[in-house]
Amino acid sequence: MGRSRASYYSILKQINKVANSALSLKKICNSIAKSAAKAVQANGCRILSFNPQKEYLITIGAYGLSDIYLKKGPLDVHKSLPDILDGKVVFIANAAKDERVQYPKVALAQGISSILGIPVLEKGEAIGEIRIYTREPRQFSEADRSFLLSVADICAVIFERAELHQLLEQDYKASEKRRKSSRVSSLPATTLRPTSFAHPSEEDFAKLLDFYCIEWLYEPRSFPLRWEGDKIAEMFTPDFYLPELDLYIELTTLKQNLLTEKNRKLRQLRALYPEVNIRLLNKSDFLKLLAKYGYGPLGEAKVEGVDRVLYSHAKIQRRVRTLARHISRDYTGQRLVLVGILKGVVCFMADLMQHLSLPVTLDFMAISYYGSDGQVVKITRDLDSSITGQHVLMVEDIVDTGMTLNYILSHLSAHNPASLRVCTLLDKRARRLVNVPLDYVGFEVPDEFVVGYGLDYKGEYRNLPFIGILHPELIKGTKPR
Ligand code: 5GP
Repeated sequence: MGRSRASYYSILKQINKVANSALSLKKICNSIAKSAAKAVQANGCRILSFNPQKEYLITIGAYGLSDIYLKKGPLDVHKSLPDILDGKVVFIANAAKDERVQYPKVALAQGISSILGIPVLEKGEAIGEIRIYTREPRQFSEADRSFLLSVADICAVIFERAELHQLLEQDYKASEKRRKSSRVSSLPATTLRPTSFAHPSEEDFAKLLDFYCIEWLYEPRSFPLRWEGDKIAEMFTPDFYLPELDLYIELTTLKQNLLTEKNRKLRQLRALYPEVNIRLLNKSDFLKLLAKYGYGPLGEAKVEGVDRVLYSHAKIQRRVRTLARHISRDYTGQRLVLVGILKGVVCFMADLMQHLSLPVTLDFMAISYYGSDGQVVKITRDLDSSITGQHVLMVEDIVDTGMTLNYILSHLSAHNPASLRVCTLLDKRARRLVNVPLDYVGFEVPDEFVVGYGLDYKGEYRNLPFIGILHPELIKGTKPR
């Protein structure tokens, strides 16, 4: 039986009141989930937001769903009701048998039959969802859908407000840090981070992962460890999941006496779920990890002046593998000479060549710049072997104005290679002065000075495993410009 218009109206009024209250984002969304589920006579509801990379769904509020259902594993936006990404309403009549449901077995075990997914749209683009769950198979009326679309609009405003709040807070913290001329470790917050952490050390860990552009999910899965009859008697929920590494992480920066208990649970988890990759990080592991990435008390000097990370190590590796695949395909059946300019290209060259499925040889040149503006290029080390009649691929770290590459290409062409192409990891197109042909490009970078993964500033930073934006004025002892 459907509700009357007046009844929907009064529930919407109530939801609006909560949305406009001083409660936390989580509490507001829990309350809305409850009102929405009750309004359409459903058994459960949850309100979800996309993560910043729009790859996963994060629960912000829920009602009527068990913990095991809520934490059944990472919810992939492309596998779980994927049409919502395109802003469509999705109805699932039988959750246990529909391929648009990512965990049909869990839905079956938890007695969930029908699911209705409503997109939360911001300026026409999906940024999250409302999901309604029922135990009995059932349909939803037009009035139900229209009511839920209005609730989704309210959620969009709540998300936007929370995001703005977060942005202002980060902006304030960043400007405070800049004022003190120390390193800035904030990300540009373009998407809502709705996670509420159980412990401050978890929040620190999330910030570290954000800084290094490492994707993370907080407590996405609970692992049942012990059953009493049909009932789960013990569960374990690791703190983080890192999808790029397919790794669960449990932090133990708390009291060491909890460690024994956690180790026991971990052993049990590994025995029951051997396919799951999990690591326990204690305080010293955590500090070592921070130091490895130049963050925290042990590694402060390593990334001094690096404002933010543009490309994480994992992202660079993925892109390099893709470039290598394209190059191997284009040169199938041929031999290739890779030519690099020292020293910036060392990391890129070393990684790229390992993924080429072709016979390759290597050669390097070295150059120096002179002239009043430092724009005139001089070759200080030429090629070891002749490239006449060979297929040559010029491998570059970064193309900025294009002057260097232009000079080198004319030098190499004079040796009459069979072909000459260019592969650059970074393309700073905004600063181009000479039009040089680029055949393979890793990333187009903004007009910023970048370091890491071979790229230097005054000879340093080449060993960073990622690429970050450097602000030399943030380096201690440097006068602000
Ligand atoms: P171009 O001749 O294209 O202006 O400059 C190319 C060279 O300038 C690169 O090979 C690199 O050595 C240097 N360069 C240009 N932009 C950057 C940058 O953002 N970071 C670093 N480390 N070097 C850069």
